[in-house]
Amino acid sequence: MTTPWGLPDFDAHEEVHFVTNEECGLKAIIALHSTHLGPAAGGARFWHYARDEEALTDALRLSRGMSYKNAMAGLPLGGGKTVLLADADRTKSPDLLHAFGKAVDHVGGRYVTAEDVGMSVADMIEVARTTKFVAGLPNSAGDVGGDPGPHTSLGVFLGIKAAVRHALGKDNLAGLHIALQGAGSVATGVALHACAEGAKLSIADVDQAKAQKLADATGGKLVAPEGILGTEADVLSPCALGAILTEATIAQLKVPVVAGGANNQLATPQDGARLHQRGILYAPDYVINAGGIINVCTEYLADGDASLVRERIEGIPVRLEQIWAESASSGRNPAAVADAMAQRLIGRA
Ligand code: NAD
Repeated sequence: MTTPWGLPDFDAHEEVHFVTNEECGLKAIIALHSTHLGPAAGGARFWHYARDEEALTDALRLSRGMSYKNAMAGLPLGGGKTVLLADADRTKSPDLLHAFGKAVDHVGGRYVTAEDVGMSVADMIEVARTTKFVAGLPNSAGDVGGDPGPHTSLGVFLGIKAAVRHALGKDNLAGLHIALQGAGSVATGVALHACAEGAKLSIADVDQAKAQKLADATGGKLVAPEGILGTEADVLSPCALGAILTEATIAQLKVPVVAGGANNQLATPQDGARLHQRGILYAPDYVINAGGIINVCTEYLADGDASLVRERIEGIPVRLEQIWAESASSGRNPAAVADAMAQRLIGRA
C-alpha cells in the first residue's frame, strides 16, 4: 500500500485532509505544508483529474510551492493548497462550495483559502458563507481584495524589468522584445505594462481569439503556440502552463532571460541548472509571481491598504536581485538558490 508519507512529493507536510461529501459530490484534498510562519495560505484549484493520485500529487506540490512563495514574499503566512476533484463535467454547485467552506472551517484557521484555477471571486463568496478563513473576496474601489491577477501581473512586470537590468544593463523595456506565452489574466496585465513602456511583444495562446485580442491591444505579433518557446527575443515570459521548461525546450530557447508568471515552470530541478549552464537568467517563478498572494494576504490579515500592497510587490525585484547575487557568488543556479533561501525561512534548512 502506498501512503502519502511514501510519495515522492511528500515533504514533511504537516497535515493532509481528505474530504468527502457524497450528497453534494465534494471530493477535496486540503494540504498544509508548513505553518512555521503563520496560517497555511493558498488557493483552491477546481480541476478534473484522470486519476486521484494526480490530485494528491498536485496538492502536495502546490502546497509546498505556497510555503516557498509566501516565505520569499516576506508574508507572515505558511503554505497550503486545496485541490477540489471535479467530475468530468466540472459540476460545481453552491452546496459543494458550502461543504468545502465547512471543511476549511474545520481546519480551524490553520488554513486560509482563496481562488486558484477553476475558482472565481463569485465562488469565494459562496465559500465565505460557511467559513471566515477565506480571502480573494470582492472589494470596493480603492480597497484591498478582489481578483489577484492584476497584482500578479504588476509583480511579474517589475521582475522582468529587474531581470533586464541585471542581464542586459537596460533600465527600461523600450525597444526590447518580449515573447509571451499565454494571453490570459496574468499575461494581459504584463503585456499592457510592457507595451506602455515601449516593449515589442510576440504573443501565443492556444486560444487564438484571446491571443489576437491581446495582440491588437498592444500592437503585438501573433505567434503559433508551438513556436513561442523558440522565438528569438530579449525575454521569454511564460504566463500559461507549468512544466514548460524541459531538457528539450531549454535547448531551443533563443533568449537571455526567462521571467514569467506561470507556476512550476521547471519540469524538474535539473532544468534550473540547464538554464544556468546555457547562461540564461531565470527569475524563480514563485518569487516573481507573488503579487497576487501579497494582495490576498493583505486583504485577509487586514494589515494594510493598497499602498502597502504596492510596497510589498515592489519587494519582488529586490528579492530577485538577492537571489541572482547569491547565484553569482556561489555559482549555484537561481532556482536552487531560491529553494535554499525559502527552506531557511520556513525553518527547514
Ligand atoms: P488564465 O487561465 O487567465 O490564462 C492562462 C492562459 O494560458 C489561457 O488563455 C490559456 O488558453 C493559455 N494556455 C494554456 N495552454 C497554453 C499553451 N500550451 N500555450 C499557450 N497558451 C496556453 O490564467 P492566469 O490567471 O493568467 O494564470 C497564468 C499562470 O500564472 C498559471 O500558471 C497560474 O498558475 C499562474 N499564476 C496566476 C496567478 C494569478 O493571480 N492569476 C498568481 C500566481 C501564478
